[in-house]
Amino acid sequence: MVAVFGCWRVVQRLADLLAGDLDPWEHQAVQAHLAGCARCDDAFDRTRRLEALLRSARDVEIPHASRRRLEGLIDRLETRDRVGHAPTPSG
Ligand SMILES: [Zn+2]
Repeated sequence: MVAVFGCWRVVQRLADLLAGDLDPWEHQAVQAHLAGCARCDDAFDRTRRLEALLRSARDVEIPHASRRRLEGLIDRLETRDRVGHAPTPSG
């Protein structure tokens, strides 16, 4: 059975997913969420492209404006998730 992750939880794990640092059950839960959530899938795609870009140019720093935009995107996703998908008590 695959655990159900909300957007906020998934966005927080995108970098770990790319790095291969998730436990197998977390990996499964994040992948399941990405398959059904265009917003997080888009965020994952942006994160993946950014990491590929950074790998290809290790000596280049992230421009301040780009960093602010990425942080803003994450903040907006987190806020939307908290407002739109309040967690339900489990059990
Ligand atoms: Zn999502």
